[in-house]
Amino acid sequence: MNFRKINKKKSAYDNDIAEVLVTEKELKEITKRLGEEISCDHEGQELVIVCVLRGSIIATADIVRNIRPHCTMDFMVASSYFGGTETSGSVLIKKDLETDIKGKHVVIIEDILDSGFTLSLLRKELLKREPASLKICALLDKPEKRVADIQADYVGKVIENKFVVGYGLDYDEKYRNIPYVGVLKESVYSKSE
Ligand code: 5GP
Ligand code: MG
Repeated sequence: MNFRKINKKKSAYDNDIAEVLVTEKELKEITKRLGEEISCDHEGQELVIVCVLRGSIIATADIVRNIRPHCTMDFMVASSYFGGTETSGSVLIKKDLETDIKGKHVVIIEDILDSGFTLSLLRKELLKREPASLKICALLDKPEKRVADIQADYVGKVIENKFVVGYGLDYDEKYRNIPYVGVLKESVYSKSE
């Protein structure tokens, strides 16, 4: 097998990306900084890292490798739904934590903070379980579209209001495996509409 030849081959997604928004190099720097910030705030504590599936899996994998205090990891699948008015939303937990977080120091890692509904509801739900502390880490932040009253304690990068994919983020479950964060071409959406 000639690896040089393989490297020259295009990936399936190459033609679908309009613009690279966060490069691989920048993601490496960002996840290192986030890990350092989380470590500094939790010196001498034991942490529970909550990865919100599926979008946060790659960011979490990179951030935890830069966390110095002891930490355990757990996973959640959550989606927000709204009956009647948008403000009366609740969170549907499709997969819950296996860890009892009572009295523990918890950091939620989310891929992107957009309207903020999902994270604000998730935070409310986890606070009911009485953790010693609860912090939020968002790899990407799109503050322009924020509706819920929520801010991340640790922010990787603030981006403009564009739909992005890659580094865990999907469109129709695809593109999560792209090593950078990019903006999807509009022609990709119109093809499937
Ligand atoms: P919100 O903050 O609006 O409740 O929801 C955030 C969730 O919406 C994220 O976890 C992510 O799943 C999805 N989302 C928001 N913006 C984007 C985006 O630009 N690209 C992708 N792939 N998902 C997004
Ligand atoms: Mg998500």
